[in-house]
Amino acid sequence: TYVVIDNCIACKYTDCVEVCPVDCFYEGENMLVIHPDECIDCGVCEPECPADAIRPDTDPDMDKWVEFNRKYSEMW
Ligand code: SF4
Repeated sequence: TYVVIDNCIACKYTDCVEVCPVDCFYEGENMLVIHPDECIDCGVCEPECPADAIRPDTDPDMDKWVEFNRKYSEMW
C-alpha cells in the first residue's frame, strides 16, 4: 500500500485524489489519508503529490503511518 505522511498537512492540492483509480483517498483531520486495504499499489499518485507526502509502505518506519492512514480512512 501507499500511505500519506505529514508533509500533506496544509497542502491544498488534490491531484492525488483525482488520479487514484480506486478512490481510496479520504479526508483526515488536517490531511488526506489512503485506505491501506483499498489501495491497489499502482503508484500513480506518488509523482502527482507536490508536497512529496505519498510514500510506499516499504520505506523505512512506515508502520505507524499505515496505522494512521487506516484509522482516519475508517473514521467517518
Ligand atoms: Fe490510489 Fe494507486 Fe495511489 Fe494506491 S497507489 S492511493 S491505488 S493512486
